[in-house]
Amino acid sequence: MTHDLVIRAPRAVLPTGTVPASVLVDGGRIVAVGPIDAHAAAAREVVLAPDEVLIPGAVDTHVHVNEPGRTEWEGFDSATRAARAGGVTTLIDMPLNSIPPTVSPDALAVKRAAAEGKAHVNVGFWGGAIPASLGGLRGLWDEGVFGFKCFLAPSGVDEFPHLDRAQLVMAMDEIAGFGGLLIVHAEDPAVLEMYDHPAGRDYGAFMGSRPQAAEAGAIETVITAMRATGARTHILHLSAASALPLIAEAKAEGLPLTVETCPHYLTFDADHIPAGATQYKCCPPIRSEENRERLWEALADGTIDFVASDHSPATADLKMAGGGDFSVAWGGIAGLQTSLAAVWTGARTRGFSLDDAVRWVSTRPAAWAGLASKGAIEAGRDADLVAFAPEEPWEVHAGSLEYRNPVSAYDGHALAGRVRRVWLAGSEEAEGTLVARP
Ligand SMILES: [Zn+2]
Repeated sequence: MTHDLVIRAPRAVLPTGTVPASVLVDGGRIVAVGPIDAHAAAAREVVLAPDEVLIPGAVDTHVHVNEPGRTEWEGFDSATRAARAGGVTTLIDMPLNSIPPTVSPDALAVKRAAAEGKAHVNVGFWGGAIPASLGGLRGLWDEGVFGFKCFLAPSGVDEFPHLDRAQLVMAMDEIAGFGGLLIVHAEDPAVLEMYDHPAGRDYGAFMGSRPQAAEAGAIETVITAMRATGARTHILHLSAASALPLIAEAKAEGLPLTVETCPHYLTFDADHIPAGATQYKCCPPIRSEENRERLWEALADGTIDFVASDHSPATADLKMAGGGDFSVAWGGIAGLQTSLAAVWTGARTRGFSLDDAVRWVSTRPAAWAGLASKGAIEAGRDADLVAFAPEEPWEVHAGSLEYRNPVSAYDGHALAGRVRRVWLAGSEEAEGTLVARP
């Protein structure tokens, strides 16, 4: 019997560890994983170079594509090119900052139509829980969104208002009723209001305006609402290490709480952000070096479940608006293309293995989102694979990235790990597909 493809890898990251392996593919799926020299007749045979490792493609569950409506910030074509170049084979698109936001079945249809024919990797969609969509979430769930995003503080765009505490409980009650998932931007507006929001180029002043207490307070609110409703709930882009004990306690209590952090919180620190460098502005903000190291420890011990990019670009004009004034520039970091390499670079310098990095950017986010056919190299899964050269150094140049706007906090930053080849469903030529919650 002749198979479609066999990839022979001197090292492959399998669920059981990193070993030499052959991966046999038929009809876009992995049908067998065996010894590197396993006998296999295949139409195509690929032998990876000695410095390459075969890994499952990364699954980035937090990406703002912005098309339609703000396509000049980032569209499906550029976002999914960047994803593919960075080893991300599946992304899930956030319900804002596109127009319309993805808060109804009609809006989801608009999103899907916009993505059709432009998806160079697999693309799924989140729905939005805003005051006006409460009571109607089930319809969007039935259309295949992976869950619902809400904000507890202003989102930054008028068409996606945040929920107050009572509305949060209503949303969670409704979502628990059909076994859905709520994902939360957790900053407490009452805490944010207690702090000054000074203008200017000083990064420390901006960071001080969005304190750790705002995150911890909002997470406390979420946990209280989880006890009342039982809804499966996820904390997006955790930056504040001070919230980790709260999260660990809630998990120990058995609440269905999960948490992500982002590559920029694991890579950068406040002391090294130059005055006026608004490419580093995001909410919640990048914090101290000590805080960053605590996030790594929490990833290692499982308090933080996985890493997602929170790729949130804008036009170069908006991102650099105000001539370096942090109170004026758009808050959001483009990190889709550099996510795998940045996580791996930080992981290896701290003694973690490539297996660990793969678990954080691929296996765990895939399992959490319900993408059972993604996130691992084993028989039965989709052959979404990456040949990764973990030791190859490179320097990021914003203008060389695939993003629509050449702005990157990583510009000039040295990373380890190059994506050499990418297979989607066992093909280097295949385009992505639009995926729905199974
Ligand atoms: Zn986001």
